Amino acid sequence: MGKTVIALAPAGSLPIPAGSAAAGVPRDALGRVLRDLRVSVTDRCNFRCTYCMPKEVFDASHEFLPHGEILTFEEIVRMARIFRSLGTEKIRLTGGEPLLRRGIERLVAMLREAVPAIDLTLTTNGSALKAKARALRDAGLDRITVSLDSLDDATFRAMNDVDFPVARVLEAIDEAAAAGLDPIKVNMVVKRGVNDDQVVDMARHFRGTGRIVRFIEYMDVGSTNGWRMDDVIASAETVRRIAQHFPLEPAGARYSGEVAERWRYVDGAGEIGVISSVTQAFCSTCTRARLSTDGELYTCLFAPRGYDLKRMLRSGADDAAIAGAISAIWRQRSDRYSEIRTAETARGRKVEMSYIGG
Ligand code: SAM
Repeated sequence: MGKTVIALAPAGSLPIPAGSAAAGVPRDALGRVLRDLRVSVTDRCNFRCTYCMPKEVFDASHEFLPHGEILTFEEIVRMARIFRSLGTEKIRLTGGEPLLRRGIERLVAMLREAVPAIDLTLTTNGSALKAKARALRDAGLDRITVSLDSLDDATFRAMNDVDFPVARVLEAIDEAAAAGLDPIKVNMVVKRGVNDDQVVDMARHFRGTGRIVRFIEYMDVGSTNGWRMDDVIASAETVRRIAQHFPLEPAGARYSGEVAERWRYVDGAGEIGVISSVTQAFCSTCTRARLSTDGELYTCLFAPRGYDLKRMLRSGADDAAIAGAISAIWRQRSDRYSEIRTAETARGRKVEMSYIGG
């Protein structure tokens, strides 16, 4: 590992370590490579999920990023090329709600052309997916993940807090499948006393359909959702509840660093996943970086601050210099927030998921 030099800090960001040459695939201080990049393409969302963008905070007075601060498609594509040169194999477009970004299918097409070998996916709340599924597939999107926290209409409307009906998300999932965005993953954040009574229904509904439900432990991202450990349903409990109705067996990881722990139905009706970032942290295999809507690089979902790459992009730095900076940031990364959660939670401010990208 080369010596790290701290360069002058641009205002409003952490200092970017001046990297040596970008040559080679960087490994962080704990030996992890930079395999996945999540790009938040907008900090806006049309849902106000109570655990993510609560209405009381993200109200009419909330200031979203001005247009000029948001990375352009050309800038995102350039970053994608640079990350690819550093070993990145997968890009997930997220937000905010990525389908709210005008022309998102054009970005997908541009990425497909610029980094053809990349695994290109997107996470959406599904509200605009029915109309866009085919265009996204035609543009070169490989797969899609749709968030859906309940099949019970009243519960779902209350959780998204904008009265959006379940039926429209289910229709969108069908349309995405018909368009070939397979296999579709369905993300359900499980919150005690809110939707945990729906876990079995969710499993039942998607069993045998080829769609994979992933039950996510409610996390302490950001500082606006009033997270409490008491609200978390441990994945082990989720698995136990489902297995009482539909026996499950461990399915094993498909690759090192897979976030979801896979379980398959013993009767062959497919599989589910559980994401246990609270009760069984997977920091040791975390290969993910996040690019915020305004071009800051975050090396952990729970990092309090990012590194201002947009400033480099817009100040004439060439690709090698930017790759060198990313490489240097990655090499000094030692984040393992979820493994040391309790101490860190007490410290306070964390960045919001809608800005950094979920
Ligand atoms: N708007 C898109 C969507 O709804 O899927 C993409 C962004 S959203 C932030 C990405 C994912 O993060 C969603 O599946 C959402 O449920 C999940 N998420 C948000 N806040 C969370 C929290 N506190 N704990 C666990 N998952 C969360």
